[in-house]
Amino acid sequence: MAHIVILGAGTGGMPAAYEMKEMLGNGHDVTVINERDYFQFVPSNPWVAVGWRTRSDITFPIEKYLAKKNIKFICSRCDKIDAVESTLHLADGQTVKYDYLVIATGPKLFFQEVEGAGPHGGHTHSVCDVTHAEGAYADYQKLLAKGSGHIIVGAMPFASCFGPAYEFAFIVDADLRKRGVRNKFKMTYVSSEPYIGHLGLGGVGDSKGMLESELRNHHMQWITNAKTTKVEAGKMFVTEMTNKGEVEKEHELAFDMAMMLPAFKGVDAVAAVEGLCNPRGFVIVDELHRNPKYKNIYAAGVCIAIPPVEATPVPTGAPKTGYMIESMVTSLVHNIADELNGKEPHTTGTWNAICLADMGDTGAAFVALPQIPPRNVAWFKKGKWVHMAKIAFEKYFIRKMKKGSSEPFYEKSILKMMGITRI
Ligand SMILES: Cc1cc2nc3c(=O)[nH]c(=O)nc-3n(C[C@H](O)[C@H](O)[C@H](O)COP(=O)(O)OP(=O)(O)OC[C@H]3O[C@@H](n4cnc5c(N)ncnc54)[C@H](O)[C@@H]3O)c2cc1C
Repeated sequence: MAHIVILGAGTGGMPAAYEMKEMLGNGHDVTVINERDYFQFVPSNPWVAVGWRTRSDITFPIEKYLAKKNIKFICSRCDKIDAVESTLHLADGQTVKYDYLVIATGPKLFFQEVEGAGPHGGHTHSVCDVTHAEGAYADYQKLLAKGSGHIIVGAMPFASCFGPAYEFAFIVDADLRKRGVRNKFKMTYVSSEPYIGHLGLGGVGDSKGMLESELRNHHMQWITNAKTTKVEAGKMFVTEMTNKGEVEKEHELAFDMAMMLPAFKGVDAVAAVEGLCNPRGFVIVDELHRNPKYKNIYAAGVCIAIPPVEATPVPTGAPKTGYMIESMVTSLVHNIADELNGKEPHTTGTWNAICLADMGDTGAAFVALPQIPPRNVAWFKKGKWVHMAKIAFEKYFIRKMKKGSSEPFYEKSILKMMGITRI
C-alpha cells in the first residue's frame, strides 16, 4: 500500500485528491495537507472585495468533504520537505512520510518585492486571498462613504496572473455605476504588462484592441510597462519603461485605494528544497508533471515552473489557469497510478490557456491553444454570457468539490460553449 500526500488544498490540490482516490481506490492511502482548514474558490475573491460575495459564499471546511471519500486531511503548514527521506515536517510538529508527493501549494504572494506594497502593513490591497479581499472591501466601503477618490488597479512586476486585475477594475467600475457614483471616482490601470491585453500571454486574438477599447469606454486611463518601485500611504511610485527597456517616465500617483496583484514566487518550504525548483521557487517538472531530480515528487498548479511566453521590459510571468491546472492534475494522477501498477508513466497535460474574466455586468473569455504563440486557436470574445457563465462555474465548482466529484468540468463545458470540439 502506497501513501500519496497532496500538499495544498486549493484549485489544484482538491481535484487532485478526489481524482487520485477515485483512480487508486482504497488499496492506497491519500492524505491532503493544507495550512488552513477551509477551501476558498479563488476566482470569486474579486467579488468579495466589492461585497458581491461573502466568505461563507465561497469557502467550505475541507475535512468533512474529504472524509466522505476516505481521504485523510491534516490541517497544518508544511515547513520543510525532506525530499531525500520523503518526509514532510509540519508546523504542528508532526512528520509525515510519503511514497509520492504531489505539490499543489499555489503561489507565495511576494508583496515584499515592492517596498510598501501589500495588505500586511503596506498600502495596497490584493484579491488573491479571501482575507485580503475582505480587507479590500472594508477600505472600499470607507472610500464610498468618503464619496470620491482615485482608485488604482493593476499588477506589480513579476505578477503572472493579469486576468483578475482587469476583472477587478471592471467589477469596481460596474459597482460604482450601479450605485450611480462612477462620475465621482477616477480610475487608473497600472500594469507590468508591455501593453493592454498582453495578459502574460503575448496577447490572445485581439485582446489588445478589445481591452483598450473597454478601458476607454469605462473611462479608465492606463500605464503599461509599469515598474512599480515603491508605495507610500496614498502615493504610488511607478517607472514607466519603453519597449527597449529604457525609462520613459517617472510617475508619482496619488491614490485613495489601490489593488495591485503582487509578484508570484514559490512558497518557502518548496523553494528551499535543493534541486527541486527554479530560482524563483517554482517546481521544475517534465511533461509528466514529475520532478526530474526527485522522481516521486509531482506538481500541479501555480507552483510549477513554466517559462514566460516572451521577455518583457518589466518582468511578467505566464498565467496558469483552471483548465490548465485541471489538465496537469489528470496527467499526474494517471502517471502515479501507472507507476504503482508497474507501468511506464506516459500521460502528458496540456499547457493551453482558457479563462473567463468577469467584467461586472459583462465579461471576456479567451482561449489560447497552445499557450505559447503561434497558436492553433487564439480566441478572445466579450459578452454578457461570460458573466453568467462565470457565476454558473462558481456554483458548479464548489458543488463539485463538496460532492467529491473528479469529473472534469472545463473541457466538457467551457470548450463546448465556445464551439471548440477538438484541441
Ligand atoms: C484572484 C484570482 C482569480 C483567478 N481567477 C481565475 C479564473 O477565473 N479562472 C482561471 O482559470 N484561473 C483563475 N485564477 C488562476 C488560478 O486558477 C488560481 O490561482 C488557482 O487558485 C491556482 O490553484 P493552485 O491549486 O495552484 O493554488 P491555490 O488555489 O492557491 O492553492 C494552494 C493551496 O496550498 C496551500 N499551501 C501553500 N503553502 C502551503 C504549505 N507550506 N503548507 C500547507 N499548505 C500550503 C494554500 O493555503 C492553498 O490552500 C485566478 C487567480 C487569482 C489570484
